[in-house]
Amino acid sequence: MNPQIRIAGVVKESIVDGPGIRFVVFAQGCSHHCEGCHNPATHDLSGGHLVAIGTIIAEMKKNPLLDGLTLSGGEPFLQSAGFSELASQAKAAGYHVMTYTGYTYETLLAQPDQSWQQLLEHTDLLVDGRFEVEQKSLLLKFRGSHNQRIIDVKKSQQKNQLVLSEIS
Ligand code: SF4
Repeated sequence: MNPQIRIAGVVKESIVDGPGIRFVVFAQGCSHHCEGCHNPATHDLSGGHLVAIGTIIAEMKKNPLLDGLTLSGGEPFLQSAGFSELASQAKAAGYHVMTYTGYTYETLLAQPDQSWQQLLEHTDLLVDGRFEVEQKSLLLKFRGSHNQRIIDVKKSQQKNQLVLSEIS
């Protein structure tokens, strides 16, 4: 089985979407409609194109310099089953996984859908919350507005309380 995800595109090498050198996958489809969204072309749930998860992993493995995978959007959690599988395969291949979402961490934890929890479990760092244009700052690292948090998911799950990443 080689499941597919719907994406707006990829960036094969980025140093601005998380720590180190990263492969970035932009999910296609978003229902948050944040005012001032940086990427409105990703909102259409039927836009973009389908790509096999194995194709993305194979593309990543061509670059020995990569440190990690960043899931951005769009909203990766709207395709939680597929993105969870992609994150799982990336973790198995030794990559660090960072996921952007317009949902808050608390909202994700309250979701009964198993695949939402699995995507969280395969995520090392989560940047959560909608982009709030009134709280926008160009000085923030790896996020667009002050309300968004960079959460260390592993530590948060171990301690059963929210732990912010040291890179925040
Ligand atoms: S969550 Fe991201 S992609 Fe979706 S509307 Fe907000 S800023 Fe745009």
